[in-house]
This record gives sequence, C-alpha cells and structure tokens, in this order.
Amino acid sequence: MNSLTGRDLKRAGGADVSTSGTNGIVIIGAGQAASQAVMSLRSEGYEGPIRMIGDEAEPPYQRPPLSKKFLAGEIGFDRVELKPVEFYANAGCELLLSTRVAAIERAKKVVLTSDGREIAYDKLIIATGSRVREINVPGFDLEGVYYLRSVADVHEIQKNFKPGAKMVVVGGGYIGLEVAAVAKKHDISVTVLETAERVMARVVDPIVSHFYERIHREEGVIIRTGVTVAGFEGEGGRITHVVSGEGESFPCTFVVVGIGIIPNTELAQDAGVTVENGIVVDEMTRTSDPDIYAAGDCTNHPNGVYGRRLRLESVHNAIEQGKTAAAAITGKDKPYNQVPWFWSDQYDLKLQIAGLSTGYTEAVTRGNPAEGRSFAVFYLKDGVLIAVDAVNRAPEFMMARQLIAKQAKLDPKRLADESISMKEVANA
Ligand SMILES: Cc1cc2nc3c(=O)[nH]c(=O)nc-3n(C[C@H](O)[C@H](O)[C@H](O)COP(=O)(O)OP(=O)(O)OC[C@H]3O[C@@H](n4cnc5c(N)ncnc54)[C@H](O)[C@@H]3O)c2cc1C
Repeated sequence: MNSLTGRDLKRAGGADVSTSGTNGIVIIGAGQAASQAVMSLRSEGYEGPIRMIGDEAEPPYQRPPLSKKFLAGEIGFDRVELKPVEFYANAGCELLLSTRVAAIERAKKVVLTSDGREIAYDKLIIATGSRVREINVPGFDLEGVYYLRSVADVHEIQKNFKPGAKMVVVGGGYIGLEVAAVAKKHDISVTVLETAERVMARVVDPIVSHFYERIHREEGVIIRTGVTVAGFEGEGGRITHVVSGEGESFPCTFVVVGIGIIPNTELAQDAGVTVENGIVVDEMTRTSDPDIYAAGDCTNHPNGVYGRRLRLESVHNAIEQGKTAAAAITGKDKPYNQVPWFWSDQYDLKLQIAGLSTGYTEAVTRGNPAEGRSFAVFYLKDGVLIAVDAVNRAPEFMMARQLIAKQAKLDPKRLADESISMKEVANA
C-alpha cells in the first residue's frame, strides 16, 4: 500500500505552515460539515494540507434541495453544490471523490480506503453523516422502490415523474411530505402512508401535524395515518402495489420510502472511538481520541441550552460543528452550544422550527392553524420558551430563536394575542 503524506499535496497559496506535523488534516465524508470544516480551517489560519475523502461522485452539496427545488427540476446542480470544485483546489484541499474509507487505524494515524490506499493524518475529522433507514418487508428489492439521500437518488426518482404516474410515499415525515408536495406539482397522484396516528409526529406538535394533513389533502394528496406497510407486490420485478398490515392494497407506479436515517458511526466504532447513539463528542467536537474530531449528523453532542446530549439531523448543526472542529484544531476553543433549528418547504409553506419541544407543559398558538396558511406554535416549559414551530411566520421564528437562547419567561396570553407585536411580547 502507498502511504501518502502531506508533502505530496499541493499547498495553499504556496505556504507550508502546517500547525501540527506534515500529514495535515484528513476529513472523512464530503458533505455539509466537511465542506464547512475546509472553509473554516482556512479562515482560522490553518495552512497545512487538507484531504477530503467522500464516497459520492459529486463535490460537497446541500441536501435540502433534493426534496424541494432540485427534485422539482427548478434548479440545477450548480445551485446545489456548496462550492464550485475549483474552490477546493484553490484552498489547497485535495478532494478524493468516489472513494470510501474502509477503516481508521488509530495507532498508525492512517485511514484505509476501499481501493487499498493508506492515508496518514495528524488530525482527523469524521463527517460521515447518515444513511437512510431501509424498509425490511417482502418485495423491498422490487424495481421502483426508492429512497432519497443523494443527487443520484433524485435522478432515479425523477425518471418516474411521468403522466399517469402514481406514487406511494412510505413515511409521513418531512422528507416524505416534501416529496409529496413536489410530485403534486408534476400532476402525479400521491398517497402518503404513515404508521403513526399523525404526520411528522417525531418533530412537531399535533396542532402542526393536523395543519399539514389538512393542507396536503386540500392539495389533493391522500394522507393515511395509522397504516403500517407490510409488503410490496409487483409484476415482472417491478412494484405495482403497496400492501398494508390490514391487507389493504395501494396501487402505484413507484414508491419513495422516507422512514428515517441511521448515523454513519461504524468507522468510529470499529476503531474504538466512543459511540453512543452517534459519535460521542464534547462541545468542541472532540471525540474520545484527542486526534479525532467529528461533526454533523454522525455526532452525539452536549447542548447547554437544554442541558442534555443530542443527535441532530440538520444543516445548522453540520455547519456549526464544522466551524467548531476547525477552530478547535487550530487551538481556538469556540464551543458549539446553540438553539437547534430546522426548516421544511412544502407547497408555499415554510415551516421553521427552533428549539426542542420535548417536555413542554403548554403549547400557545398565535394565528389560526385551522384556516389559512400562517401561524406559530410556541412551547413553554413552566412558562419558559423552549421551542417554536412557525409556518410562514419568519418574525415569530427569528424572535423565538433569541428568546429560547435567553430562556425567556413569557406571558402565554400576550404571546397568543396577535394585536401585540412579538417585540412587545419579548420586552414585557
Ligand atoms: C432529502 C433531504 C432533505 C433535507 N432537508 C433538510 C432541511 O430542509 N433542513 C435541514 O436543516 N436539514 C435537512 N436535511 C438534513 C441535512 O441535509 C443533513 O443534516 C446534513 O446534510 C448533514 O450534513 P453532514 O455533513 O453531517 O452529512 P452529509 O451531508 O450527509 O455528508 C456526509 C458524507 O459522507 C459520506 N460518507 C459516509 N461514510 C463514508 C465513508 N466511509 N467514506 C467516505 N465517505 C463517506 C456520505 O456519503 C456523504 O456524502 C435534509 C436531508 C435530506 C437527505
């Protein structure tokens, strides 16, 4: 095996001021957190070699558009990639794409790629993200059953957007519902099957779930809750029906499964790095190995706002941990300790979620979710604001983010009263 070192690399701006040894930094994964780490390493002044190893063919790109405008065909890859490919060369970051890391050998401080290379590091960032949870029912391998995680998945799904197409979405989470909204725009008949009693049950309150069920139905989507998928049936190897546990049969020309993700932690686990529902990191993204950092979907990290550990699946989390890892590696401690936030676009609706509502004692609604398309739900725990779900309510969302960070105590009556501005509510 070849052992490649930092000396082999093209250097940034001609300088060679590696802060720690000559092998530089290796990043496993070429996604949101990885791309941010490269940008932040350079802006924090790191001048040594950087190598990013990703198993996808594309340079790092944003995943949110994959279930929104990119799936709809409204934007191309140039609007999805995080930086043009030349950026990485100019930043002195060598991109090894279509390359999978098979193992980390901590004692030798090398990573092994599946094509047999051995790449040495001084510091390693694991930014391997997550993968889709697969459905394990009879017929799972029929043609026409898709998942959505990558650009390649989008291309496959889009081939099915044809006149007369019938899509069944398995899973009424935000990805499934976003795909449903896009498919509706393409005049495809859509049925969403959700096992829970309401859609998006894992992430939002019943008020918000019922609002989205109403909107999707108004848009012509069939939403079925409390339905468990028991199998897929097909003809000639291609799916024709989804069958429920109750024996109901749903005809379709294709299926998109969106039933959650699994963090990619196996590399860390096999190398003996501590993993517990994600790679365990501290607020500086340090793992149990002092030379290894981890960022993004694959981590389990402490959050001071809520006083507990979290594993998050969001762009904000990936960006902030990418920044924190870069700062920590360059000797500047910038702890990641923020209010989590997230968004989902469906039709003309922008859902913005800040904070975590788990354990709330009161939900306060501002606006009317039973009519129209704009409202916010605030979650209070013993009077303190802990989370907000805002639909087409950017001002409420922005204000709530700040108030959650401050652990502000709010008057529920004033919060619900739309004649009082959010600023006045906050200043009371
Ligand atoms: C369809 C979709 C819609 C989304 N919408 C939103 C949204 O609206 N808002 C929001 O906040 N978040 C959204 N997310 C989530 C968000 O995109 C992720 O949280 C974010 O991409 C996580 O960044 P990451 O860097 O941790 O992982 P990723 O961006 O997934 O990057 C990880 C990369 O590592 C690669 N990799 C894994 N293992 C290896 C290995 N052994 N060797 C080499 N490479 C490896 C993976 O293939 C991947 O390319 C969405 C996700 C999806 C899939």
